[in-house]
Amino acid sequence: MKLSKLDINQLHQGLVKKEFSSQEITKDFLEQIEKKNKEIFAYLSVHKESALAQAEKVDALIAEKKEIPLLAGIPTAMKDIIMIEGEKCTAASKILADYTASFDATVIKKLKEQGAVILGKTNMDEFAMGSSTENSAFGITRNPCDTERVPGGSSGGSAAAVAADMCVYSLGSDTGGSIRLPASFCGTVGLKPTYGRISRYGLMAFASSLDQIGPLTKTVADAKIVYDAIKGKDPLDSTSVEVKDEDKKISVKGLKIGVPKEYFVKGMDPEVEKVIRETIKKYEQEGAIIEEISLPSTSYALPVYYIIATSEASSNLARYDGIKYGFSKTKDSKSLLDVYLQSREEGMGEEVRRRIMLGTYVLSAGYYDAYYIKAQKLRNIIKRDFAQAFEKVDVIFTPVSPTVAFKIGDKIADPLSMYLGDIYTISVNLAGLPAMSTPCGKAHNLPVGLQIIGPEFSENKIFSVGQILENYGH
Ligand code: GLN
Repeated sequence: MKLSKLDINQLHQGLVKKEFSSQEITKDFLEQIEKKNKEIFAYLSVHKESALAQAEKVDALIAEKKEIPLLAGIPTAMKDIIMIEGEKCTAASKILADYTASFDATVIKKLKEQGAVILGKTNMDEFAMGSSTENSAFGITRNPCDTERVPGGSSGGSAAAVAADMCVYSLGSDTGGSIRLPASFCGTVGLKPTYGRISRYGLMAFASSLDQIGPLTKTVADAKIVYDAIKGKDPLDSTSVEVKDEDKKISVKGLKIGVPKEYFVKGMDPEVEKVIRETIKKYEQEGAIIEEISLPSTSYALPVYYIIATSEASSNLARYDGIKYGFSKTKDSKSLLDVYLQSREEGMGEEVRRRIMLGTYVLSAGYYDAYYIKAQKLRNIIKRDFAQAFEKVDVIFTPVSPTVAFKIGDKIADPLSMYLGDIYTISVNLAGLPAMSTPCGKAHNLPVGLQIIGPEFSENKIFSVGQILENYGH
């Protein structure tokens, strides 16, 4: 039996029944990493010793007949923007190439309490800015479904690691689609939870009002297990909230599914559209009621996102100044300002610098009202659009991306075309809603993801709607 093919539940059952040990599972995954990482480059660092030591601990608990949590002894991978005490955390940036985290992120603390085996840190677009993982300072991650293509981004390493059986599940972060897009491109499940559902403490901030951590998994059931393990209010993140998840099972009969007409636009790959439409048909055949809806402010989402996200980024990234953390260029610097300028220029990649400049410009006196304030107003309107839609429907179905995974190098020279790929995912972050990418078929022989969007805190509903599709076995 190939242990690296199994999902969380199967591995947990096997562990409890002593069919195999956590050390065996962990070694199996380390072997996969050894074999595949050179080509795929999903991992930036592998924590072999600590992973095996943790596996041994879990095996000892099982030998003592102790009850173990679901995630105990199960190997996972973390996007390299989530802090693990004593391990490097680079955000795939040269400026943090030698930075070691001094504390655990809350999600890490929770996973460690469960006995999770952390295999290592995954590659990403620098500071989570990008849609293809090509913006990493350390190299490109390749899509395991077709290694000539990108895995999506920015959590491309996390998605590729799951898709290539180099971990059972992983965590990513999603500011404008960075969990859902790579999930869609690599054929995994990816959940962006409701804003505030999961603590951001220990997640390096990109755009704090949009960022959320979430799981990338092989199955919907696994996504729920991981989500349940990491959610909850955290005194260390004042934007986190406690809510009781509804645990009602959803029946597809009578389920009202909204399909926004603005999400099927010119420029969308017709093959992708076909797969999405066929998927919607399946739900209809099972008894769901499909309603065309309108989210009229959709066309504002991209400009609003790129104003708000860059503004917040310009402020959040001010801390990387060559003094406080990581890389510092002091040689030939004549003044403190010189140190700042040179460290940032050399330490940060082109896309990150572009965004800092854009954000700084937008926030500067004279432009603030024209751009930033206006964007905030429009953000409210986008939020209202969704609220109105959810008065009529239970969930909303859309594509995750207008295309399948594109070829490496195809869009990197044209930032605008890269930004346009986020068109279906960013509104969800602006509105703070939960959404999940679920594999729903193939176009051009590559995975296509269906995006299931729900009202705030409706993650359980989303899981149950996604499960229906999974049971179908598309
Ligand atoms: N692709 C989007 C961007 O470049 C989203 C990134 C993300 O979600 N972190 O900003």
